[in-house]
Amino acid sequence: MQVYGYGAISANDTLKPVVFDRKEVRAGEIGFKVIYCGVCHSDVHQVNDDWGNSVYPCVPGHEIIGRVTSIGEGVTKFKQGDLIGVGCMVNSCQQCEECKSDMEQYCTGPKGATLTYNGPTVPDGSNTYGGYSTHMVVREEFAITIPDGMEPEYAGPILCAGVTTYSPMKHWNLQKGQTLGVAGIGGLGHMAVQLGKALGAKVIAFTGHESKRDEILKLGADEVVVTGDENAMQEKAMSIDLLINTIPYPFDLSIFIPLMKKNSSLVMVGNFIEIPKFVPADLVFNRIEVAGSLIGGVKETQEVMNLCAKHGIRPQIEVIGMDRINDVFTKLRGDTTDHAFRHVIDMESLHTEVAGGEPDAESIEQPTRGEVVGA
Ligand SMILES: [Zn+2]
Ligand SMILES: [Zn+2]
Repeated sequence: MQVYGYGAISANDTLKPVVFDRKEVRAGEIGFKVIYCGVCHSDVHQVNDDWGNSVYPCVPGHEIIGRVTSIGEGVTKFKQGDLIGVGCMVNSCQQCEECKSDMEQYCTGPKGATLTYNGPTVPDGSNTYGGYSTHMVVREEFAITIPDGMEPEYAGPILCAGVTTYSPMKHWNLQKGQTLGVAGIGGLGHMAVQLGKALGAKVIAFTGHESKRDEILKLGADEVVVTGDENAMQEKAMSIDLLINTIPYPFDLSIFIPLMKKNSSLVMVGNFIEIPKFVPADLVFNRIEVAGSLIGGVKETQEVMNLCAKHGIRPQIEVIGMDRINDVFTKLRGDTTDHAFRHVIDMESLHTEVAGGEPDAESIEQPTRGEVVGA
């Protein structure tokens, strides 16, 4: 099937209209029309090749909401017309211990989980293309049901920003009445604040920007601390049970360690590259754990989607047309004080562009990364 999208042809390229082929729906898969797609900071990192693993052309997008248009043989969970979501993964081995215990993101199969974009497809190794496109195909296990009462434009960011912060709350067993710290209040952090409150925790938000204080309090945070304010930081000494650090760039972790209680956990979800700076003794004396956590499994993603629907938790969004995508990327590359926490592309803008006659799109192929051994 011929599909239109927006992609980068090489590193640091602006996104341009592209046209490519998607495989037809096979057994166990569903095809859908993309109606909204959130813009995640990872999209910018991947297009920039900030992680050194990007394959081009690169069509990003992993906060995808769509309407089911076709059903493969044997599909039982969905029917035509259903509203669905697809997050960061489209496949995994389904056989390993991790997959069997609903942690597909940590799949230890031959190639691990197949990411929604920039992931080699099993078994042929072709590159995956994401949600900045008119249509997609996914195996039914990786599609999320969008519950009644959840508006489709708000649902996308829950699939990445939501589950990435929810998963550590579940894993480290955040309890009612405990204190959750959230460092960095952007796309991920503003979801973490709301989810922490829904789970009954006291939430302290840490931001570098005094100007964000009122906005963060409106999200439900009990307290807002500006990280540059040493006195305010000191007042929070040994007060936090779980700290989720969403800051997406290298950051001095040592300022947070003194805020942690005994036996507490400081979990990194936003910065993959730099080794955080801290003094091990500060961990040793209070048995503090520094850990990392990657997105969440499919079951957890459905759980957090349902929780958001039930508790009225919504990401703060600004809906944009595809024509504004490069402006948003430029903004995300530089500006960390942006107050619209998540941009969501109204994909009708792309469908309209396509319906208006063949857009001037570059024809691209999905580059193969070699056969996936053992698949
Ligand atoms: Zn993301
Ligand atoms: Zn697996």
